[in-house]
Amino acid sequence: MCGIIGYVGNRSAKLEILEGLKMLEYRGYDSAGICCFEKGELKLIKKKGKVDALKYACNEQLKDAHCGIGHTRWATHGNPSDKNAHPFLSENNSVAIVHNGIIENFEMLKGNLQKQGVRFRSETDSEVIAQLLQKSKCESELKKVQELFSKLSGSFAIAILFKGLENQIFAIKKNSPLIVGKSKDGFYLSSDVNALVDKTTEYRIMEENEIVWIDNQDCYVFDANLQAKEITYTPMNLTKEDISIGAFEHYMHKEIMQVPTAIKLTINECEPMVNPYTKLPKEILKDLKHITIIGCGTAFNAGMTAQHYARERDLIVDCVYASEYRYRKFLSQDNEICVFISQSGETADTIEALKIAKSHNIPCIVITNVATSTINKLADYVIPTKAGPEIAVASTKAYNAQITALFALIDYIYCLKNKINCRTCILKDKLYDVVKKLENYSFNNIDELAEILKDTERVFFIGRGVDYATSQEASLKLKEISNIHSESLYTGELKHGTLALIDHSTVVIVISTQKNLFDKTMNSIYEIKARGAKVVLVTQFEVESDAIDMIIKIPCTDQMLMAEISIYPLQMLAYKTAVLKGLDPDKPRNLAKSVTVE
Ligand code: GLU
Repeated sequence: MCGIIGYVGNRSAKLEILEGLKMLEYRGYDSAGICCFEKGELKLIKKKGKVDALKYACNEQLKDAHCGIGHTRWATHGNPSDKNAHPFLSENNSVAIVHNGIIENFEMLKGNLQKQGVRFRSETDSEVIAQLLQKSKCESELKKVQELFSKLSGSFAIAILFKGLENQIFAIKKNSPLIVGKSKDGFYLSSDVNALVDKTTEYRIMEENEIVWIDNQDCYVFDANLQAKEITYTPMNLTKEDISIGAFEHYMHKEIMQVPTAIKLTINECEPMVNPYTKLPKEILKDLKHITIIGCGTAFNAGMTAQHYARERDLIVDCVYASEYRYRKFLSQDNEICVFISQSGETADTIEALKIAKSHNIPCIVITNVATSTINKLADYVIPTKAGPEIAVASTKAYNAQITALFALIDYIYCLKNKINCRTCILKDKLYDVVKKLENYSFNNIDELAEILKDTERVFFIGRGVDYATSQEASLKLKEISNIHSESLYTGELKHGTLALIDHSTVVIVISTQKNLFDKTMNSIYEIKARGAKVVLVTQFEVESDAIDMIIKIPCTDQMLMAEISIYPLQMLAYKTAVLKGLDPDKPRNLAKSVTVE
């Protein structure tokens, strides 16, 4: 959350920063701001709203700047407004900062500074950083920056400008991502690699508790004790095409259409003979008794889907939200592994949950889409998903890729435990069938259903077994981008309370892909219809019934893999509904991608 960008070099800092902020906008869009050196002064422009509003506010200003910092905000402390927008200047305008993260002790620090007479201009936790730096008695700017490590608690990636040190940027990082990019025209700082594509040839991901000092000549890295570190850069391997919107109006649409490719590339990665499987701890996996899957949002739902798949393979899986895992009482279980799922690999709750599991010596496998992410560095073992960059805030192709990786992992463990040859090739063939079916799928009835949903206040998604997991993900998609109240339920649970809410104004979307449960589901459909709701059935089975208002027919594949298919029309349904409501599906209200704060 929040995007930070910094630039120093021959190019126009204003253009580089505004372009970078546009690429980081998916991380937060409550406000945006820029601060550059201009004639020795720190010139600040910031605005509530999206980066385009900032661009407009900048107009002809900052034309000659060659060094500056920028920020696009997802507010944690203080409402979205001009005054709470980053960057922040210290009281005497001698220090400018941008911050990603949360300063957990800001109230205490702010109180102390206020007692010394410092006046604050915003309600944020972040402003305290600029004021602390101004007040610092350390003899050099580098030491002032170092001192922040001992003063601040919480999570922070911070970029800093000091008046008097023109064309120099300082940065520090703890628990929030920050990357240095290098090009022949200067140096960059960025919250993610995407914003540096096409701008830099090489980059370096900052490690925990590091300080970076860049000018237009070079970049210097220090540890928290100010010991200089050697720098190795990684070549930039993303292309502009990987992150461009192409012929689509929205990233979300593009990413839904990439679902089949995401599945195919991920299953190709899961061959037992290639990395990462060769590295998995065979001795531990073959005696495994318990798997705990931990994630947030869509990643958690992917875990729920895999839970059912694992049960069919006689494996016991628990799924826990990372935000709960962190704070619940820890109970040790024999022969347990934890699997952490995070698209970005930067999800703060998931990273903290992983640290807890590691501290109890539980082997930790991570499934993530970003090879360079923080969580990968902390993991014992990494299984990459190959969905490619996902820019839309609502996750789609990464969800299918996560399920794919989980299916492959579960098959692998099952074979080890049962001493049989790994059957990933069988799974691969079956998933290729899924891919083929999805590539040829035509989203019948989705436009018509979106038309109905756009004027509906309340929607329920229901399913039994694995279809419940799909209903959770479908419901999350709809609510996050179309602002329609939607809930997911186990089909059999409806009559234990929620049926009280069902009337003529309700739409109930029933997912039913499991043959043995189909008749039971039909019973529930009659009960719902008797209360007047509109019933939509998502299924691969042939069915005719007056109780069903609309059928979303989906292609048939191996029953165990139907979750890859049944979610597909529902991802598109959420997208189409948001567009019909005139909302921006890529940037839903109050949300942001890559949740790097608690
Ligand atoms: N805590 C800061 C603010 O509210 C930064 C938030 C973030 O990084 O998401 O402005």
